[in-house]
Amino acid sequence: EPMAADTTTTATCGYCSTGCGLRLHVRDGEAVGLTPETNYPVNLGMACPKGWEALRILESDDRATSPMKRNPDGGFHAVSWDDALKEFTEKFKHTMDQHGAGSVAFLSTGQIPSEEMAFLGALAKFGMGFIHGDGNTRQCMATAVTAYKESFGFDAPPYTYDDYEQSDVMVFVGANPCIAHPIQWERVLRNPNNPEIIVIDPRRTETAMAASQHMQLTPKSDLALLYAITDQVIQRGYVDESYVAASTSGFDQLAEHVSRFSLDTVAASSGVSAEQIISVADSIGRGRAVSLWWTMGVNQSYEGTRVAQAIINLALITGNMGRPGTGANSITGQCNAMGSRLWSNTTNLIGHHDFASPEDRSKVAETLSIPVENIPADKGWAYDRIMEGIRRGEIKALWVIATNPAHSWINQGDARELLDQLDFLVVQDMYHSTETARHADLILPASGWGEKDGTFINSERRYGLLKKVRKAPGEALSDFNIFKAVAHYWGVGEMFAQWSDPEAVFSLMQSLSRDKWCDITGIDGYEQIDRCGGIQWPWSESAAADDVDPPQQRRLFEDGKFPYPDGRARLIVDEITPPPESPCDNYPTWLLTGRGTVSQWHTQTRTSKSPVLRKLYPIQPYIELHPTDAGDLDVVNGDQVRIQSRRGEAVANAMVVPTVSPGQSFMPMHYEATNQLTLSHFDPHSGQPSYKDCAVKITKI
Ligand code: SF4
Repeated sequence: EPMAADTTTTATCGYCSTGCGLRLHVRDGEAVGLTPETNYPVNLGMACPKGWEALRILESDDRATSPMKRNPDGGFHAVSWDDALKEFTEKFKHTMDQHGAGSVAFLSTGQIPSEEMAFLGALAKFGMGFIHGDGNTRQCMATAVTAYKESFGFDAPPYTYDDYEQSDVMVFVGANPCIAHPIQWERVLRNPNNPEIIVIDPRRTETAMAASQHMQLTPKSDLALLYAITDQVIQRGYVDESYVAASTSGFDQLAEHVSRFSLDTVAASSGVSAEQIISVADSIGRGRAVSLWWTMGVNQSYEGTRVAQAIINLALITGNMGRPGTGANSITGQCNAMGSRLWSNTTNLIGHHDFASPEDRSKVAETLSIPVENIPADKGWAYDRIMEGIRRGEIKALWVIATNPAHSWINQGDARELLDQLDFLVVQDMYHSTETARHADLILPASGWGEKDGTFINSERRYGLLKKVRKAPGEALSDFNIFKAVAHYWGVGEMFAQWSDPEAVFSLMQSLSRDKWCDITGIDGYEQIDRCGGIQWPWSESAAADDVDPPQQRRLFEDGKFPYPDGRARLIVDEITPPPESPCDNYPTWLLTGRGTVSQWHTQTRTSKSPVLRKLYPIQPYIELHPTDAGDLDVVNGDQVRIQSRRGEAVANAMVVPTVSPGQSFMPMHYEATNQLTLSHFDPHSGQPSYKDCAVKITKI
């Protein structure tokens, strides 16, 4: 029987980076229902099925409701928080005493609020003395971060969602917003300019089906293809010479480099015709407002950083930056991937500072009232190096917070063996049932979205609020309060005395952001974020000096100035390198991976708990096969097939569809089976895993 609410409040959704506003219907302080917020600048009154079901998944039977410790026989038993935190502290301290500070690490997430990320990063590295820690954002956004930092001088996605509605040409590279970012895609549909939509993707995705042009390229030919398009843009006279002269550097090297990518050669290697390359160059060159968008098809690639920069180059040389409807725009993945980029204290010193800079270390120490000698000068290891550190026996204890590497890390069988090699694995999560929790020695029960306060930062740099509208089950605590308790048991509670609640930490974050490109010193606390429907960074004290609320849509680089000291963006090119693995006689088929549905999220840890979302998606794994290949294998729709790679094997139901080209197949990442096949290979600049392509053999069962 539905209960009537006595009030409503708005919170930002906790799945994808769109950051939709969800209206929570609250009775006696507890949310009893949810509808999309109609008065929020992001989502225009809409939400996707995951958002609609955001409350349902909090009620699942497998919520972790008390700390749990592994029994000698392999099962778990409940323990008190006191026992759990003593065990946690004793095991980590003992490991660090015996093997040094480099023998422990944490792996975090883009799914917790910025305040919790900041607390974890500061506590682990400044308070507990950890050297190594990283986030699962390494799996989704590291490439975009590196590309922007090198090209612009700061990790700064330049766009605002209004740009979707103001372009007349839109190029999506390795992005499928139709299902991955469906509410952002709704903006494209509302664009009154009847935009030309160009999709560059080896698979005929839902977005490609809606496009004006689909460049269905051979897997891993994207960098050469983008260089060939760039060369055509230059040769056909579409360069915005005054913009290039005033706002960029490196054009001559770029022009010389891309001139080596002849139409015929690239057409042969990419499978895209010379005519189509010219046609796309013409569209980009002639467009009044051209925006280029990318996501995981670019980021999760062995040369992803350079591909992202090839996209950035195209926007820059055609002057498509800083104007309505333009930009080289990385669509973020997780709800708070941007928070991780700025606040997790992993790749960057907290607040987008530099670990290696003595001035930055002093500023951070002073702002946080933490001894400067506690601020490390080294950023520590990224995710892949942490996993390799486990293999070498150097990392012996690991703290995993709200992420699921036993499902999501590349080459999953290997990842699970590594987790089992650890002396001590702590998993802090909402659910005790995740694949990673099954390997844990200690499980710490955490509250989730809707059960705690804080801020997320969405794809367009908007801080939005999440709110506590439910009590977490049993003894589960917010990650924030778990970090507070860990600080106390570790003996550094005093150091974090001012980190009293999320809004107090937000205030510290504001101080840390002062004079950075991500300056938020002008935000007047959570109340203003709530009232304004979120606030995009930057919003500095000087911007706020006239005491008005910030405009609801703001893009960066409107003055043609970039964060580098000389104000110029860099045009960066590189040599093409061969893919780490390609089809061969033994493994003759490309396996592509990616998001398969609007209704599931990542490893399904949360979304599988909703009966509605489960009904919207096949429970059994499936693999898309081209009809020609299916015919060769004597396979029809629904037949079971075995998929083998050099790493492992999986079984899936065949889905015979022409979405993939002959010689290619596709499996969604949401199934546990998929990463049993993927190849441990990484973009050398960002450390991001190359999930998207590997070689497999498919046989009928
Ligand atoms: Fe919006 Fe993304 Fe949440 Fe769906 S998952 S409601 S698109 S923020």
